[in-house]
Amino acid sequence: MKKALLLIALIFTVTVAFSMTLFSPADGTHITNSAVTFKWNKENCSLYQILIYEKVNSNSYRFFGQGYPRNYQTSVQLRAGMLSVNKTYVWIMRPLNVVNGTSMWGAWSKLCTFTTGYPQIVNNPVSTGNTGNTGNTGNTGTAGTGGGQSYNTISQKSSSQIDSEVMQKYGVTFKVKDKNWSQQEKAGCYTLLDNVETNFVKLTKYIYRQSWWRSSGVLGYCYIGKPGVYLLDSTCRSRTSMVNTLSHEMTHVFQGPYRKIADDWGYKFHGRNSYNRNRVSGSPTSYGNTNVLEDMAESVRYYIFNPSRLRSSHRSRYDFIKSKVMRGKEYSGNEIY
Ligand SMILES: [Zn+2]
Repeated sequence: MKKALLLIALIFTVTVAFSMTLFSPADGTHITNSAVTFKWNKENCSLYQILIYEKVNSNSYRFFGQGYPRNYQTSVQLRAGMLSVNKTYVWIMRPLNVVNGTSMWGAWSKLCTFTTGYPQIVNNPVSTGNTGNTGNTGNTGTAGTGGGQSYNTISQKSSSQIDSEVMQKYGVTFKVKDKNWSQQEKAGCYTLLDNVETNFVKLTKYIYRQSWWRSSGVLGYCYIGKPGVYLLDSTCRSRTSMVNTLSHEMTHVFQGPYRKIADDWGYKFHGRNSYNRNRVSGSPTSYGNTNVLEDMAESVRYYIFNPSRLRSSHRSRYDFIKSKVMRGKEYSGNEIY
């Protein structure tokens, strides 16, 4: 009886020690978080080795990095921005066991493969208060601007007329995610599209109306690398808030195809590229200090809605947006309201 128990215990120990289980990212997972956490089952060991490889092409992988987590750890986190977007990675682990006073590597776990996608960018409510209007102090050049119609003019148009004009001029479609658009909401969005630099506007293909996402505090969101902007009830309640959020999210749309400009922004104002988010400072808003991409989105929002303030407080940001995002187009701050 005693012998049988000992045998079972022995088998159990061996089984556990030599078959590590990787929990996440699980095999076949698609990751869109900018920071990735690796999790595994706890082993009776002295430490672990973790290896990560990046897929280069169909049959080769390049070593990405390794770590030696301590025995009490069951997870490690890779900082945001360390993994590349749209890549395939594999990871594998093994425990270092101490057997009879001698350290021995245990067997490797199974390989887990995962892919990375663009992170979802969520605009929280801190960011989009009204920036306020400070008078018509800007240079209102018209280059690259669709029609420059006022809200009063546009709000006379029917919903279907707005749909067809917006499609014809900018290739933009109003989509229903789970909420119908009102005519006034479409008119508000169209006013922004019609007054902001055309090449910038045309990058956005879809504007979705959605009731809420995760919490009532979120105003809007988008996926970097995809041409859709999602506007939620929380921001569509007020036209001012809605167009502020739209301009912010359209900047995130811009950051997809113009990744190089977003990276240039990061290096110029933060000394780092666009997906890192440490030690960031100096944005016009506190929400802009979240990371480089939010800084740029908030700065563009200010550029459109409160240009004189941005120009006086953040002149180099203003000049950057003027030349690299808006092709020289400047605003008074009064066009959209
Ligand atoms: Zn944002």
